[in-house]
Amino acid sequence: MSENKKNNDSSSIWHPIQGPLGAGLTLGALVFMGSLLGILTRMENHLASFWLANAIMAGVLLRIPASSTLFGWLVATLGFLSADLITGSYPLKAGLLTLANLVGVAAIRAAYLRLTRGLIGIHQPLAVLHLACACACGAAASGMVGGLINPVLFDDGVLIGYLFWFVTEFANYIGILPVLLTAPALPDLCRRVVRYMTTPAYRANLLPVLLLMVSCVGAQLIGGPGAIAFPVPALLWCAVSYSTFATATLTLLTSAWMLVSYSNSLPFNAEAMISLRLGVFLIVPGPIMLSLLMQSNNSLLATLKHMAARDGLTGVSNRLDFMERARQQLRSGGSPVGVMMIDLDHFKAINDTHGHAAGDAVLVSVASRIQHCLRTGDLLGRLGGEEFAILIDGHSAEELAAIAERIRLTVVQAAVRIPEGVALPVTMSIGVAVAESDGRLSIEQLLAASDAALYRAKNEGRNRVVVTSLLPDWSADAEFGQGAVR
Ligand code: GH3
Ligand code: MG
Ligand code: MG
Repeated sequence: MSENKKNNDSSSIWHPIQGPLGAGLTLGALVFMGSLLGILTRMENHLASFWLANAIMAGVLLRIPASSTLFGWLVATLGFLSADLITGSYPLKAGLLTLANLVGVAAIRAAYLRLTRGLIGIHQPLAVLHLACACACGAAASGMVGGLINPVLFDDGVLIGYLFWFVTEFANYIGILPVLLTAPALPDLCRRVVRYMTTPAYRANLLPVLLLMVSCVGAQLIGGPGAIAFPVPALLWCAVSYSTFATATLTLLTSAWMLVSYSNSLPFNAEAMISLRLGVFLIVPGPIMLSLLMQSNNSLLATLKHMAARDGLTGVSNRLDFMERARQQLRSGGSPVGVMMIDLDHFKAINDTHGHAAGDAVLVSVASRIQHCLRTGDLLGRLGGEEFAILIDGHSAEELAAIAERIRLTVVQAAVRIPEGVALPVTMSIGVAVAESDGRLSIEQLLAASDAALYRAKNEGRNRVVVTSLLPDWSADAEFGQGAVR
């Protein structure tokens, strides 16, 4: 897959910002606003602690490839320059700072695309390492320019300038980019938030975020060097409870909070600031990696659960799943319930004459035809070989007999076309048992009764339905067959 194709795939969720003009203008506007925020919150004669603009620009370039055009870069450059100039920077300063920013963004974008081979997003733990390496590259590139211009702009050394730029850029990139790279489309995000607000189960799931808030307040109240680790357990709990995007957002907010609360309590000291910024933002990869591990574990578990419950050939429930679901359904009780046992007639002959693959094709076709005759709540399972069972509730014996007859006719009336093109006529016998579900009735009892009815259907000539009832008002067992109801 080409780099462009991959980028387009991942950016489609940023719909509807498409086309180079819209994307370039969006990029420029975001860079301008991010720069302005950074400038207005920075201390006099120092670099901003929160310089969102570079990470935002890198994130937008990666998520909206249409923004990465000459036009997009020019508008972004204008965004950086104008924010600096309108807030009082002289042109040389604005130009040099913008140069350092652009060099860093270009480096992180190039490193990220190379490391991930163009696959945008954070889908597995290794992607966090790729992102961290790309952040380090971007920060190092910015740092090199920043170090060189430090004596000119801030009257300070090259090395300390390099270190400050590197650490600040790295912290901003590693904090903000995971949020931008995992952000869902806006409509999807709104839907998720509404779901959180309206479902009681989701509201109970707010405990991890509450603990996180308590930990952050506790860290501020207690203080000291150990307080930096206070929110970590709550962040890990968030990681196992929420999506990667939510985890990345909470981690960023926590890091920002810790940075602000610590910066105010520390005497201004370059080494301490560098250590604080690095320490606070190095917390970020842990929860995100854990969240990704949880997501991949959960999806693996869901796949395994699905595979363990399905019949590999026909895709309907297997015996284990059918029995389990039937038990659950019968436990609730309350209405008449029916079980049908279906067995294909002379199926062995199909295998013997046309081969096992033809027999398989017949099983698949029959299962799908049966499924089409059922409603959503009805339970169909393949008990083994050419035997299927159905659990249906809420019907009288007469209604169940009619449903079973309809199923039989659906299969009997159209021959199954096997892979070689031959059309095979297939018939089936069905035993139906109906009983009052009182909460104590077991699926084993119902299967035994329907099996006995099936046995009778076979003995009496096959290709028919026999109904037996455990209901009190049923006078006699009934048989239906070969299109006629007796
Ligand atoms: P009856 O009318 O009495 O039910 O006869 P039958 O031939 O259908 O029943 P029998 O129990 O003698 O044979 C069932 C056959 O089903 C034997 C077995 O080889 C075949 N079978 C079981 N599982 C599968 C399967 O997954 N695929 C295929 N193709 N055949 C299967
Ligand atoms: Mg059989
Ligand atoms: Mg059979």
